Amino acid sequence: MDFKFSQKSLDLQEKMNKFFEEHIFPNEEAYEKAILDSGDPLHIPELLDELKEKARKENLWNLFLPDSEYGAGLTNVDYAPLAEITGQVWWAPEVFNCSAPDTGNMEILAEFGTQEQKDQWLTPLLNGDIRSCFAMTEPDVASSDATNISSSIVSDGDNYVINGRKWWTSNAINPRAKICIFMGITNPENPPHTRQSQVLVPMDTEGITIVRPMHVYGYDDGYTGHPELNFENVVVPKSNIIGGEGMGFKIAQARLGPGRIHHCMRTIGMAERALQLMIKRALSRETFGTKISDHGVVQDWIARSRIKIEEARLLTLKTAWLIDNVGKEQAKIEISAIKVGVIEAASYVIDKAIQAHGAMGVSQDTPLAKMSAGVRTLRIADGPDEVHLRSIARREINKHT
Ligand SMILES: Cc1cc2nc3c(=O)[nH]c(=O)nc-3n(C[C@H](O)[C@H](O)[C@H](O)COP(=O)(O)OP(=O)(O)OC[C@H]3O[C@@H](n4cnc5c(N)ncnc54)[C@H](O)[C@@H]3O)c2cc1C
Repeated sequence: MDFKFSQKSLDLQEKMNKFFEEHIFPNEEAYEKAILDSGDPLHIPELLDELKEKARKENLWNLFLPDSEYGAGLTNVDYAPLAEITGQVWWAPEVFNCSAPDTGNMEILAEFGTQEQKDQWLTPLLNGDIRSCFAMTEPDVASSDATNISSSIVSDGDNYVINGRKWWTSNAINPRAKICIFMGITNPENPPHTRQSQVLVPMDTEGITIVRPMHVYGYDDGYTGHPELNFENVVVPKSNIIGGEGMGFKIAQARLGPGRIHHCMRTIGMAERALQLMIKRALSRETFGTKISDHGVVQDWIARSRIKIEEARLLTLKTAWLIDNVGKEQAKIEISAIKVGVIEAASYVIDKAIQAHGAMGVSQDTPLAKMSAGVRTLRIADGPDEVHLRSIARREINKHT
């Protein structure tokens, strides 16, 4: 296995790191302040648009999309370090038009969309003019088993009529989210894995109500938040179906793989940042006549953090390499393993970084508290850990039966 990055990736990494030093890190406070000062939790700082324009001019744009017609055409291995850099600041991926759930939605449209769907929705998404959301999870059923999804998409002449309640639809509350990919049942008579379909639903369609924003450990996540939504007799033309009836599961599977690499590498970026903050803080203060960084226990945290980050990154790069060179099918154990392993590693590092900061670590004065809430939710979002562990265990057991 060769994890050597191409010259194109190396050049982009250098450019991206420079962009962070010049434009992202110096603006972290200004960004948070702009939202706070506006008094509107859904406020989108002008700064974000200014930075998006800069990033686009520097060709740091749509780097996630392996399709060279629509995106940068990078392999998963080559994009991985760039995703890691973007993960250091929670709002930064959008600056490069590389933020979830748009990335997954754009991938789906590029792979399965009709020309008309691409023109209408993929083009403005690629241009960063609109944003999008993905509505699968439902409050009334255990949604980690996607066969439980019960919203209905019923055929009515040339249209579909959609009814159902969704929640945790990230980004749906964003005033710029113009399109939703909605998952529901079109073919109840089919076997469980071909009952579902994914349909494009413009967010201004009559019958869609935002019921309430959901909070994440008290954070409301602002314009990127995850509201509960009601869909009542929402009508869309049949041409809005993606890939055909019964394709919902297949498309959901296609989303996995590259999307997991993105999530995990961004999480590793977060962990690197947390380690850096931990060390800087520990170097800057003293207790009982000793620098905090010289206490044995703190050195143990720093060393273990380094080991965990390296392990997590190597496994993620291996997974990316397998997807690029062998295929997603052959990388299923790794695709599940990084979901669990990387989050565990990052949780450890962020927790120790908080501890090393004392009370400041749980406050708004560092990004650590928000990171901590973020990685904790990742044990549930994108499929709970237990589901991925079950799938790994089954594949391992099958090797011996
Ligand atoms: C911040 C955030 C953002 C999200 N964004 C989106 C989004 O944009 N779109 C979207 O559709 N959804 C989104 N989700 C929802 C997320 O995908 C679901 O919460 C997740 O799939 C779990 O579904 P559930 O909440 O219904 O839990 P349930 O299915 O009720 O499961 C509850 C628990 O049961 C246990 N469990 C389940 N299966 C097993 C098993 N096989 N073995 C052992 N234990 C098991 C697990 O511990 C699990 O956590 C988001 C969630 C969060 C927190």
